[in-house]
Amino acid sequence: MNKFNFQCCFCNEGIAENKVDPIDISIIFNEDMLLKTGATQDFWAHFYCLQEKLHPYMKGYLIRTDKENEH
Ligand SMILES: [Zn+2]
Repeated sequence: MNKFNFQCCFCNEGIAENKVDPIDISIIFNEDMLLKTGATQDFWAHFYCLQEKLHPYMKGYLIRTDKENEH
């Protein structure tokens, strides 16, 4: 039985569940509300991996900053 139910879209490793992981990254593709042409897609990731990929300026917008959440 697989210990991990989620796989990180940045590092391709399994994600053990904890206080903040896994995180869900939802993408909405150029949605037109009137024509209902939008599509969505979800990715799973480690909080730490997302934090590392973000531009330093954007990291300040992350709500969670748990230092203990490093893998
Ligand atoms: Zn990762």
